[in-house]
Amino acid sequence: MRMLAAVMYEQGLVAPYAHSRPLRIEEVDLEGPGPGEVLVEVRAAGLCHSDLSQVAGLRKRTVPVVMGHEGAGIVREIGPGVTGLRPGDCVVMTVGAGCGECRHCVGRRPVLCDAVGASRSKGVLLNGYRRLACQGQPLYHHSGISSFAQYAVTVPGTLVKVDPAVPLDVAAMFGCAVVTGAGCVFNAARVRAGRSVAVIGLGGVGLCAVMAARIAGASQIIGIDINPDKFDLARELGCTHTVNARDPHLAEAVRQVTGGGVDFAFEISGSQAALATALAVTAKGGEVIGVGLGASSDLFAYAHTALVSEEKVIRGSLMGSCVPQRDLPKYLGYFMEGRLPVDRLMSGTMGFEDLNEGLDKLHEGAVLRQILLPHA
Ligand SMILES: [Zn+2]
Ligand SMILES: [Zn+2]
Repeated sequence: MRMLAAVMYEQGLVAPYAHSRPLRIEEVDLEGPGPGEVLVEVRAAGLCHSDLSQVAGLRKRTVPVVMGHEGAGIVREIGPGVTGLRPGDCVVMTVGAGCGECRHCVGRRPVLCDAVGASRSKGVLLNGYRRLACQGQPLYHHSGISSFAQYAVTVPGTLVKVDPAVPLDVAAMFGCAVVTGAGCVFNAARVRAGRSVAVIGLGGVGLCAVMAARIAGASQIIGIDINPDKFDLARELGCTHTVNARDPHLAEAVRQVTGGGVDFAFEISGSQAALATALAVTAKGGEVIGVGLGASSDLFAYAHTALVSEEKVIRGSLMGSCVPQRDLPKYLGYFMEGRLPVDRLMSGTMGFEDLNEGLDKLHEGAVLRQILLPHA
């Protein structure tokens, strides 16, 4: 079929993106669904900070690529051999699926799946196929999803059924922002009631971590960001304290209110300054959970003697260490109960023509989650 999609032809174009236009809106061809594949009509797709870092070229992608790695839509067609999904099902498209067979998938850590890593760097679906083209030239898939398009062909593992009562523009955010932010709290840190938490970087993912920490029963939730405009919402969503990341007495202030530092510090931004802050606000015996991704070549420094003598842990958590079919229904349930009000993170919707301006707004830090409506 022929459809509209946002294609990135090269990485490294510079802001303002409204001018350099890294995302080109094209009429592209989509094949399939082949055996074991599903055709989804994309109704909503979230613009994520990692889209920005890929536009900037911080992590290499096979180009040209149809962008978009979180979304929600409606199943329109299933290929031979697909079970468990039917045309008409509402689905969240998510990044955490694995092959189901390698040691990591068998060990319930599909985000570490070897096959996913390989297919992602080649820009193909998890089954090794490519279904996108433009004027006869190959286009590649982003994270096996490519949701900045009117339709997507993907494999069933990337799709989680969602109650039609959940608006699809809200459901879209569960595929990356929510699994990542909530999952790092529930799966990586396993925060329990009464523990204290700091979240460094209060964007969409960080605020999901804040909401999840509140659900987990954290006694203190300290929100840290360079932009104090985010503090009101952060407090409404669960922060008991907010601190400006540029405050020279930040670590001291956090140690004061927590009696020596937090049990868990979530570093969402992927920056060296934020990691330093995370280590500084963590109590002896506490854990720093690195969630944000920087450039592939970044090297981070820390005081090793302090790490050893204070028995601190630095741990990475990719996409909330999620198991999509286990975690997403649970998080969607929290949303329906009003405990995970991720609709508060929506900064508005847009059509294809506004995508590049949307990247600028994200770059300026002015928005949380902007949602593309591919059929608007
Ligand atoms: Zn993302
Ligand atoms: Zn696997």
